[in-house]
Amino acid sequence: MARSGEFSVIRNIFAPLAVRAPGALALRDDAALLPALTGREWAVTKDALVEGVHFLKNDPADLIARKSLRVNLSDLAAKGAKPEFYLLALSLPAWIDDAWIQTFASCLAADQDIFGVALIGGDTTATPGPLTLSITALGTVAEGKMIRRDGAREGDIVFVTGSVGEAGAGLALLKGEGRAVPERDVLIARYRLPEPRVVLGARLVGLAHACADVSDGLIADLGHIADASGVRMEIDAARVPVSPAVKAFWGADAIVRAATSGDDYELAFTAPQSARAGRDSAAREAGVALSEIGRVTSGSGIVLLAEGSQPIPLASWGFRHF
Ligand code: ADP
Ligand code: MG
Repeated sequence: MARSGEFSVIRNIFAPLAVRAPGALALRDDAALLPALTGREWAVTKDALVEGVHFLKNDPADLIARKSLRVNLSDLAAKGAKPEFYLLALSLPAWIDDAWIQTFASCLAADQDIFGVALIGGDTTATPGPLTLSITALGTVAEGKMIRRDGAREGDIVFVTGSVGEAGAGLALLKGEGRAVPERDVLIARYRLPEPRVVLGARLVGLAHACADVSDGLIADLGHIADASGVRMEIDAARVPVSPAVKAFWGADAIVRAATSGDDYELAFTAPQSARAGRDSAAREAGVALSEIGRVTSGSGIVLLAEGSQPIPLASWGFRHF
């Protein structure tokens, strides 16, 4: 199938995703309008995804669409912000046709309904290079209440939602590493389709001192919090939540691999002891499991401790692009 012109793609395929945001002006103006807020602030984030780096050329359009929106919603969740709007930049190589763009847009529409967000603008270009897309997401949070990376305090407890390592195992399987496990499809799905913890994230406002989403790896992302906060973190390896499928896939290395592989999109946060009751009811209402995995102490850096409190040497803390 051929590709329609740039303007008809915007008008016919993307404008329907903007109808619920009057400020988007039906994607017919040069800019969108956002309301000024009283008592709330905008939290703004951007993530770019590049073919060959974040997804493979043959990955289905629906997964590319959902992943690019969801990784941004995960950043907003980590800040306690309620997702509202997003902007989409698309650089399309020649092989992308109308059918691909239609599928891509209809999957964005499905996720818009799930997460309550609307498209308000973007840009569309051709490229001689790989398919590249970038989303800017905007959420709102009570003024002064965004959960930052630099708020962890000595004495806080460290938590993580759900479990870590499944996405990393899924990616390893896609790369042909490791042995086949019966849960292969579950692990790959976890890599391809993150579940951003938006409901819990918003509920952590006022409860968590610091939060990050686990995109680079549990140790790497908690390490960012420790650095920004000027504290040290001790994580107990035995308490890191790892599913039976991940244990089966990575065997004796499972916990270290799970704690240093990325793409989980769980929330890792610190909170004071005193927030226990609120935190537990927030997790229950959001339907998300919480694990207490360590503590914040004075000093700097992060350590993963084996039983007996010996630090486990780590070859890397997680993923970095360069
Ligand atoms: P410009 O010439 O300034 O780049 P465009 O003609 O690219 O403007 O864009 C026209 C309108 O369409 C703008 O409102 C812009 O935000 C919107 N738009 C363009 N591409 C996209 C896209 N991929 N997703 C959403 N909105 C888009
Ligand atoms: Mg443009």
